[in-house]
Amino acid sequence: MVREGLVALNEFMDIGSALAMATERLRAGSDSARLDAELLLSRALDVNRSYFFAHPEDMLDPDAGRRFLSLVERRASGEPMSYITGEREFWSMNLMVSPATLVPRPETELLVERALMLIGRKAAMRILDLGTGSGAIALAIARERPLCEVVATDLSEDALAIARQNARQLDVPNVAFACGDWVDPVKGQRFDLIVSNPPYVAEADETLALLRHEPRSALCAGNDGLDAIRRIAQTAGEVLADDGRLLLEHGSMQREAVAAELQRTGWSQVECFNDHGGLPRVTVARKATADAHPPAIGR
Ligand code: GLN
Repeated sequence: MVREGLVALNEFMDIGSALAMATERLRAGSDSARLDAELLLSRALDVNRSYFFAHPEDMLDPDAGRRFLSLVERRASGEPMSYITGEREFWSMNLMVSPATLVPRPETELLVERALMLIGRKAAMRILDLGTGSGAIALAIARERPLCEVVATDLSEDALAIARQNARQLDVPNVAFACGDWVDPVKGQRFDLIVSNPPYVAEADETLALLRHEPRSALCAGNDGLDAIRRIAQTAGEVLADDGRLLLEHGSMQREAVAAELQRTGWSQVECFNDHGGLPRVTVARKATADAHPPAIGR
């Protein structure tokens, strides 16, 4: 006999108690424990969440109960909801994600907003997205600006397979994908605007423990987290039209370092923008024109 108060989550429960206990189980590791529990139960039962409100006293059948328990344990171990459900909403698109791609973050919508401000509604620009992952940024821009042509690169074929599937699923015709390191696969081409959400977390950053289910290559970039941004600052100009803009997402503590790196490599009009939480997260820079004098390196 289990005494009241010590009842553990198990497969022989009614919907209401299963949800209440799963919520408790998930509380320590999730800011949205109740919602997570409901989404996981709707998956285990293959019903809409509204079903639970009408049927809180229905008993779970043991198979569904076991499926629910295993989903709750995956979530409790820190796996992102998006990997369990296989999808994530970004810019009002339902995107497929997998452990080969970073889970798109709401902050990254700032990068999309800033890019769209630089692309007129009727513009037919060529846009490059470096390190596209699930394709979130590239697809958001391509859909908002149908006259533009968007090219997105990634080093990971597995990530690109997901991005291509998202483009197909969302029926986005004006996006193309290319596999390779940063600008390598598009050498010789010219773009009017380049965007990137590169890896920018330092190798020793403690928050990485919380992100262990996501690809390290999409998160980490050397000792100070700036290796990828340095590479992009050095090479993006090769495929950017004169006066073209580069937009980079970065960590909230990297504002000065990113600006210094961009200035050191000859970019001009470097400007940083805050996310909706007031933190400096997106830096925009302009490619110096051929006749401008780049600042001396090391100045
Ligand atoms: N913003 C992410 C995080 O710290 C990192 C994403 C990235 O490195 N591009 O959770």
